Amino acid sequence: MPSNAAAAVEHDGHPVSVELQGARRTYGRGGQIVAALDDVDLAVRAGELTLILGPSGCGKSTLLHLMGGMDRPTHGRVLSGGEVTSELTADRLAAWRRTCVGFVFQAFHLLAHRTALENVALPLALGGVPPRERRRRAQELLARVGLADRAGHRPAELSGGQAQRVAIARALAADPSIVLADEPTGNLDRQGGLEIFDLLVDLAHRDGRTVVVVSHNEEFAARADRVVRVLDGRVVADSAPDVGPCAPAGPVRHAGGGPAAATLLGMAVSAVRRRLGRSLLTGTGVAIGVTAMVLLMSIGAGLRQQIVGSVLAQAALTSVMVTSSAAPTGISFGPSVATGGGRPLGPAQVRELARLTGVRAAYPDASLFGTLRAAARSTTGVVRPLPPARLWSPTGTVSLPRLLAGRLPSTTTTAAGSGVVLPQSMADALFSLRPGSEAAAVGRSLTLSPTGTLAPGGQVGAIGSGTRRTRTLTVTGVSSNVLGSPAAYVRASVLMRWLAAGAARGSALRYPDIVVLARRASDVAGVARRVRALGFGATTVGDVLHTVTRAFRVVEVGLGAVGGIALAVAGLMIAVVMSMAVLERTREIGVLRAIGARRRDVFTLFVVEAGLLGLAGGAVGDALGWGVGSIGAAALKQPHLVLVSPGLALLGLAFGVGVAVLAGAVPAGRAAGLSPVEALRGE
Ligand code: ADP
Ligand code: MG
Repeated sequence: MPSNAAAAVEHDGHPVSVELQGARRTYGRGGQIVAALDDVDLAVRAGELTLILGPSGCGKSTLLHLMGGMDRPTHGRVLSGGEVTSELTADRLAAWRRTCVGFVFQAFHLLAHRTALENVALPLALGGVPPRERRRRAQELLARVGLADRAGHRPAELSGGQAQRVAIARALAADPSIVLADEPTGNLDRQGGLEIFDLLVDLAHRDGRTVVVVSHNEEFAARADRVVRVLDGRVVADSAPDVGPCAPAGPVRHAGGGPAAATLLGMAVSAVRRRLGRSLLTGTGVAIGVTAMVLLMSIGAGLRQQIVGSVLAQAALTSVMVTSSAAPTGISFGPSVATGGGRPLGPAQVRELARLTGVRAAYPDASLFGTLRAAARSTTGVVRPLPPARLWSPTGTVSLPRLLAGRLPSTTTTAAGSGVVLPQSMADALFSLRPGSEAAAVGRSLTLSPTGTLAPGGQVGAIGSGTRRTRTLTVTGVSSNVLGSPAAYVRASVLMRWLAAGAARGSALRYPDIVVLARRASDVAGVARRVRALGFGATTVGDVLHTVTRAFRVVEVGLGAVGGIALAVAGLMIAVVMSMAVLERTREIGVLRAIGARRRDVFTLFVVEAGLLGLAGGAVGDALGWGVGSIGAAALKQPHLVLVSPGLALLGLAFGVGVAVLAGAVPAGRAAGLSPVEALRGE
């Protein structure tokens, strides 16, 4: 086996490999400072097994941690291979540990869910060695410790002695020149302990490594090359204190890279799978949050699409609403601005507007209020021009009625009178329909006795006697009720004729507004400009859509925010779960750090783990949001109510991952911040 140490042994008299100079390590405890190690000078040599003996609590472990770069001295320094290791940065120290030091612990600290082979290969994985190569080397190492046939066993399936052999093989994975064992036989029976000790002696004598073993077993003293006794943090005896020549500065081996991304991902996936129940729970939390967000936002988008769609479908894209004021009105639900100053809107203006370049037709957007009678029944109601004209009435709502039965009235007036479309409520009042039997009203006759115009804002205005005349109408269709006041619809030309009949001298007739239809959609802007040039106000479909769309964006964002709150709660859950995971796996983190994982590797590991939960939760949330939305929409017979776009699905995923990563970052930072020694204590 090639070894750094082997080169060093060529020097006679065993060169020094690690040296503590005036090393002191203190702990503050309850305002009191306790020195675990007090001013220790000690140099250990390559090719020897140095045994450190002393009672419990005398500072043996502390000494070993300082030698192996797991901890730093409070005063003094630690040197190895021409470097002051106690002054390396945390990452360089971690890399030095990974390549130059192998740790063996009393409690083995093997990862329980991994096979012997995987445990041995772990330091290699953390060092970025490719999978095939690390398996080969791990197999070789298992053979070296006499466990070639136990590669596939998990720690629980091994005896204590075998588990410690696996741990020694793992310590040798990076072919370190220094092997440090902290009470490696403490958990073994006498025979097993002696075998492990002999194996460690072999590492020093055969490979020329520096081996330091901590124990309180006097029996080993006879087998060690050198015995150092420690008491109360001080070296009190040393069987071979002569310090040989210093080891030459070896190749700097702490510049190595970290684990491959795939390695960390694999470790994260296995951690998620190992705690499947809790992972599912956390993922579900994210999923619920994302579901809420996606569902609510898709409903918002669906509503907007539906309303914008119906505006586009039913309103001629070529409409321009003309108001008397020069100020653009947009959509107004209150009293109309048209009652103020500005140019009046009457039959003369309809004719004037109809003559404009690019205009196909102009008609008033007026409505009549009156009594409708059929046989013995009667009801009062509003009669409006058919959409698109109705759409621009400021007192109307943006949603449009749906035709439930029959058809829209044609231009021809039959003997039975002009055609009318009745809303459900009026049809029911006049013909007492059962639900679903709206068709029964089609073809029936009724009369309308107008009593006034309905001005924008709902005031009833006076009309001339000619307009008040009772007229006969034939029902051509029945429509759904719209929000607000349901109205009956007649053709705009018919309504205009009735209004004109009441204003014989033409002077008093005023319309709330006039609808102008451009010849082509491309003419709309020009027509609107010409209308404004005449001193009128003009609002186009584009203006209206803009307003509607903007209003719904606000609704969508509001709905999304509610989903976001759900997601934040899910994030809190992830933070709690990850914090628990850090607590639970403190020892595992310590082992990873001891065998060379850098802080950032541990951080990445936990963040990736959280991210995976977020990704899974986000995907499930997307699917659920879409599924629940679709089923709900189908149940409500509103197929377009829910609109899940790829963008929204991506947003759901991004939110899931983002919240999870944010929530995971704090516990991950905590995990990464633990010192290897702290973590190994498992506190
Ligand atoms: P040994 O390994 O010989 O049993 P240690 O090196 O673990 O002894 O500990 C030496 C002394 O330092 C003990 O008194 C112990 O209580 C104290 N000590 C070790 N680690 C800590 C710590 N993190 N905080 C406070 N005191 C500590
Ligand atoms: Mg100890």
